[in-house]
Amino acid sequence: MMKKATVKKSAMYTIDLTKIDGDGAFPCPKCGTVISPDDESEEAYQIVETKVKNDDLEELILTCKKCGTTIKLVGFLSQPET
Ligand SMILES: [Zn+2]
Repeated sequence: MMKKATVKKSAMYTIDLTKIDGDGAFPCPKCGTVISPDDESEEAYQIVETKVKNDDLEELILTCKKCGTTIKLVGFLSQPET
């Protein structure tokens, strides 16, 4: 299956939360700073954009404050609900 992502000149990393163990924290792909989506202090990152679908968070775009890399978080909706 071919799915081309639109790649802009400035690199944007995509993190799939379904592939992350634990509480969803992950190291910045570029500088290694640990970024936790649950960290609302936004000390390590800054939220650029949020996409919401049916009241659920679908996509989160944030910027690493340390190196300025743009990171897209996906996979919020994949958690199984009972
Ligand atoms: Zn970084």
